[in-house]
Amino acid sequence: MAKKQFKAESKRLLEMMINSIYTQREIFLRELISNSSDAIDKIYYKALTDENLTFNKDDYFIKLTVDKENRTLSISDTGIGMTKEDLENNLGIIANSGSFAFKNENEAKDGHNIIGQFGVGFYSAFMVADTVTVISRALGSEEAYRWESTGADGYTIDVADKDTVGTDIILTIKQNTEDDQYDEYLEEYRLKSIVKKYSDFIRYPIKMDVTSHRPKEGSEGEFEEFREEQTVNSMVPIWRKNKSELTDEDYENFYMEKRYGFDKPVSHIHIKADGAVVYNAILFIPERTPFDYYTKEYEKGLELYSNGVLIMDKCGDLLPDYFSFVKGMVDSEDLSLNISREMLQHDRQLKLIAKNIQSKIKSQLQTLLKDDREKYEQFYEAFGRQLKFGVYNDYGMNKEVLQDLLMFTSSKEKKPVTLDEYVSRMPEDQKYIYYASGESVDRLEKLPQTEMVLDKGYEILYFTDDIDEFAIKMILNYKEKEFKSVSSGDLGIESEDDKQEDKEAESANKDLFEAMNSLLSGKVKSVKASKRLKTHPVCLSAEGEVSIEMEKVLNAMPN
Ligand code: ADP
Ligand code: MG
Repeated sequence: MAKKQFKAESKRLLEMMINSIYTQREIFLRELISNSSDAIDKIYYKALTDENLTFNKDDYFIKLTVDKENRTLSISDTGIGMTKEDLENNLGIIANSGSFAFKNENEAKDGHNIIGQFGVGFYSAFMVADTVTVISRALGSEEAYRWESTGADGYTIDVADKDTVGTDIILTIKQNTEDDQYDEYLEEYRLKSIVKKYSDFIRYPIKMDVTSHRPKEGSEGEFEEFREEQTVNSMVPIWRKNKSELTDEDYENFYMEKRYGFDKPVSHIHIKADGAVVYNAILFIPERTPFDYYTKEYEKGLELYSNGVLIMDKCGDLLPDYFSFVKGMVDSEDLSLNISREMLQHDRQLKLIAKNIQSKIKSQLQTLLKDDREKYEQFYEAFGRQLKFGVYNDYGMNKEVLQDLLMFTSSKEKKPVTLDEYVSRMPEDQKYIYYASGESVDRLEKLPQTEMVLDKGYEILYFTDDIDEFAIKMILNYKEKEFKSVSSGDLGIESEDDKQEDKEAESANKDLFEAMNSLLSGKVKSVKASKRLKTHPVCLSAEGEVSIEMEKVLNAMPN
């Protein structure tokens, strides 16, 4: 039987495709600029092997031009251009990518800067334009052609005039409707900010004529308007530069420019990974807790770039929840521009990057702890709680990563200490890591249950955060030392003789203990004699796994 070709309603297909790939209209500009950049790259790669071709960087640029009256926005480039066939094949067939083909043909030459791959980006222009006109002259050709389409019913191709090699993409911007605003795409400042946001690191200048102001000659204090051509993008991203060229201040400025936060970062990490996965990243550990940090509104994530072009504002998959405070960006050549959120989640490269980043953050925090205690404590003050949540969530699966980063106030030092510090100065006869949970250090210091432990010369960790004891329960033990609450029934300090004496005291005063037990029945499980107390007549202690403090937290939690 003869095979039939599928037919498709191209208009609907186009609409569906555009609407499913892109969530924001403004990215049409990113797509068109990326295509222009690819087109210039192609000349660059050709010049590498073609002796008749020289590549003088200054001759290559992208230019945006606005004509408000005619409602047009043009994106022009001095790239390789398109022949009539190219226009047919690349712009006439949806999902056909000339750039992808170019990359494959030129595999031997390092063509990895080319961004295009899926052959759909161009059509995003129809999100903002009624009509898209492409005038192009290919390298080595005397003729130019005009491709034009209103999106729905196909396209036309005619001969056109163009003096120089390259491509002009002319968008006739849609009229505003009640629901949708398009005029903004004819505003210089708006276009400038879109370029900054997505295309700041395109390696060729993106130029634009803009209105500026300067002091008026001869008249003091007055300004006059004038038009000038500006390069809008900064081209070389800081993360591509060498660490040795950069100062702390450069990183801080980047943090501010990017508005990662309004504080000064405590520390930064600059990664240039060249192994199984190639990527650059700059990460920051902020100084202060964002106001919404411990709420549901807070959204973790890093900016994700594919080869210098922003593809996602907040890629959450790059950070584990316990490091959700980290800000910054990742740029990888191994990711493609049009990748969707769903695809990203399963992306192997992205998983590798995430894993890599996680261990870099951990070692950075450990270095900070070792080399700059004050800064670490500042960091811990802001985000320590999140680390403890991290231990508690996932049933302690992350304890290996996190336990060395934890700190608790110590009875000895009266300031935060790490578990390692605690364990390393334990007296030989001490079996457990002791802790006391309660509202504040002040109150804990007065707790009768602490007396015997302190008397033995042992240190106690004060747990003043709701989450502390829960997190510790997940760690179970640290360097083979178990944790023990000072209010637990058996402290592991009492000698057999002590226990025997307690028993004897109970039976000698049988009537008294029976009377107390029946009086308090339903309120406490039992009343017992204890050697634990010195200056206090009585204290509460817990027998099971759940301490009195934990019970309070559990009872306060909404069901
Ligand atoms: P992609 O960039 O993923 O290949 P697009 O839909 O953005 O897909 O573009 C389709 C193809 O059209 C590109 O691969 C390229 O061959 C061609 N093209 C688009 N814009 C230009 C341009 N400004 N100059 C030269 N070729 C272009
Ligand atoms: Mg493209």
